[in-house]
Amino acid sequence: MARPAVAEIDLSALRHNFQVAKNYAPNSKAIAVVKANAYGHGAVEIARALEPLTPAFGVACIEEALELRAAGMSKPILLMEGIFTADEVSLAAQHNFWLAVENQFQCDAILRAKLKTPLNIWLKIDTGMHRLGVSPNSVVNVYRRLATSSNVQDKLVLMTHLACADEPNRTETLAQLSCFEQCFGSVVSEAQRLNKTVDASIANSAGTLAWPQTHKTWIRPGYMLYGGSPLAHANNTKHFPSLPLRAVMTLKTAVIALRTVTKGEAVGYGGRWQAPQTSVIATLALGYADGYPRSILPDTPVLVHGQRVPIVGNVSMDMITIDVTTIANVKIGDEVILWGKHLPVDEVARQAATIGYELIARMPLRVPRVYIN
Ligand SMILES: *Cc1c(COP(=O)(O)O)cnc(C)c1O
Repeated sequence: MARPAVAEIDLSALRHNFQVAKNYAPNSKAIAVVKANAYGHGAVEIARALEPLTPAFGVACIEEALELRAAGMSKPILLMEGIFTADEVSLAAQHNFWLAVENQFQCDAILRAKLKTPLNIWLKIDTGMHRLGVSPNSVVNVYRRLATSSNVQDKLVLMTHLACADEPNRTETLAQLSCFEQCFGSVVSEAQRLNKTVDASIANSAGTLAWPQTHKTWIRPGYMLYGGSPLAHANNTKHFPSLPLRAVMTLKTAVIALRTVTKGEAVGYGGRWQAPQTSVIATLALGYADGYPRSILPDTPVLVHGQRVPIVGNVSMDMITIDVTTIANVKIGDEVILWGKHLPVDEVARQAATIGYELIARMPLRVPRVYIN
């Protein structure tokens, strides 16, 4: 087995980034979000590395939570979208999964279940994203129904999710925050009447990094744990705030062929790129079937010997061609980095009109993950 395309996963960078999230929100607890196979990094290995540091994990669905339990993880796991079918409620109670409740169906299913131990519930409010959550004017009612059920623990978390926190100038975040505060106040009054308590959770990575007023009891960092910056996207052009984060995934491969083409000769499918002068072309063992976007703009850089050189021609399914004319002594077998250390995935993503989240989260299984401590 020798195909050199691998995603190297740096677990010390991961642990460092978790600490960075905690440093940004020193008075909050942090849930490590490991949904979607830990954003493509391998859920089990990532959770194993974070388990000594984090009080709980966040995932999208019970299948992801069960995978972590089966691998031996014992910390609580929050199902951030709650249940999809009613039979998940008792399974969640058995396995100490925490449940988001974002609609009446989920609330009813929890109230109807026959449970031996009460559930830790995160009641989600739609404060303006209009994707999930109960409406602000129904939250006290839903809260009362949950809080008076023996299936629900005395302490409940009110949560919401921010739609625009990655753009520091958007006032929508302040509107969502004030909506949340209002709901929180009403729920706390009701909780006091019932002799119960309420915690709060708002911030994703962008909230953690850019909106201290959203930190509350629990932050829910995801993307930043993997070293990406949620602030480095198209609407913050030329604005890549440097954050003390380290890339966890480095996508790398090697040169498998080298040739010299003369001025005017074309490279790759469709002959899209033609040599403007005599050029040295290196072929890499990695293509769009390995998660590298075919839609990248011409001249997107890769790193060879630590230097940036451009991709030329179309990205193929299994291969990419680059122009290494400016680098001396490139040899077959030399390592090439597509993103990661010294070449942020956020930058590559912008060249493909997307966000780094997408590139890492959809990294196909074809690419072996190689873990380093
Ligand atoms: C995915 C997710 C997060 C983490 O978001 P990042 O932007 O990756 O930090 C937090 N909360 C919820 C509800 C999510 O679905």
